[in-house]
Amino acid sequence: MLNVTKLLRAEQTEREAESKKSAGLSPALLRYAPSPARRKPIVVWNLTRGCNLHCVHCYTSSRAEPDPDELTTREALSVVDDLAAFGIPVIIFSGGDPLLHPGLFEIAGRAAARGISISLSTNGTLIDETTVTALRSAGFRYVGVSVDGAGPAVNDRLRGHPGAFKEALRGIRLCRDAGFTVGLRFTLSKNNVHDLPGLFDLAERERVDRLYIAHLVYAGRGARIAPRDLSADETRKAMDLILARAESAVAQERTMEIVTGSNDADGPYLYLAIARRDPALAARIHRLLLRRGGNSSGTAIANIDPQGNVHPDQFWTRRTYGNVRKAPFGRLWQDPGDPVLLGLRDRERLLKGRCGACRFRSTCLGSYRARAEVVHGDPWAPDPACYLTDDEIGITPAALELASTQPTVE
Ligand code: SF4
Repeated sequence: MLNVTKLLRAEQTEREAESKKSAGLSPALLRYAPSPARRKPIVVWNLTRGCNLHCVHCYTSSRAEPDPDELTTREALSVVDDLAAFGIPVIIFSGGDPLLHPGLFEIAGRAAARGISISLSTNGTLIDETTVTALRSAGFRYVGVSVDGAGPAVNDRLRGHPGAFKEALRGIRLCRDAGFTVGLRFTLSKNNVHDLPGLFDLAERERVDRLYIAHLVYAGRGARIAPRDLSADETRKAMDLILARAESAVAQERTMEIVTGSNDADGPYLYLAIARRDPALAARIHRLLLRRGGNSSGTAIANIDPQGNVHPDQFWTRRTYGNVRKAPFGRLWQDPGDPVLLGLRDRERLLKGRCGACRFRSTCLGSYRARAEVVHGDPWAPDPACYLTDDEIGITPAALELASTQPTVE
């Protein structure tokens, strides 16, 4: 996740990060903190595969019925105790739709009572007044609602449910009016990129606290629509629009955060765009990007799937540390049997091809290894969704040849 508005307010972000560092770490600034704080990951926990919608890009291929072997509430409560004992700072409850898990509020409430910060990632359509009360009692402060179009025409088609837009907006408004920090989440593809300006208007009109724009990841049903991913040119145009809207928000002193996700090449791209007109700001941004440290799958991010399998992130489920039914999370995390998962902790030296030779590899870390593995069959191959040119990443044919002969870890 790349917080574009925080990058544009680089001076303030650096100051805040320093003061939070001396006062103890804030989860909101975790990504801009020095590396020791990153040893305990944020956990994205897909509690269930059950969902009342059927989105075309759903990375968990969720469907109406939950899987029969999902963790029970009793099992999940014991996992929460393990996570708390290990020092996990944040759990993001996701799905499917986590509101369909019968134990959500009990599980989340236990996590909050154990000192873990809890967030909800939902399609928003199931939120009513009763849900809002239960969310507050459980200890949620942040609710992220997915919307994939600026209006019902695009959104409802992509989310497979007539009325989804209207219902999600009701959920957003209820949460916002009840005082939650509310995020609006949008997954980019050729299917909806034309709605991006309208999405910004929607987010501003609805006064959400955060607009999160994710690139497509080829996982679950998202793999089926990989041909609908944006081309490099289309991605650059979308990023230019995001940057322009973020600059305008910062200039107008709006509080809404604008965040991108699922493509760490965004950091170098924004740095280069700013460097052309404001070298001093670009230098600060570069420092923040170095501090952030690039993609965090398997380092600052972990995932638990509905069956209790632990993965390096929610999109990369073909790599597994083990199952929380068999061993505590901390033990699995600290001792991954898979050499690729171990390699993630020192991935810079393993990256091959463009990523291995790229001058931004320390600030990007090769972006999404899951995408490289799906497309190239090699987790250390270049991320196929990188949209920077060879000139921009500073590669020469000699450097590229050298980077293509890295040792293989499989
Ligand atoms: S080439 Fe790889 S490391 Fe460099 S910006 Fe692109 S994805 Fe990131």
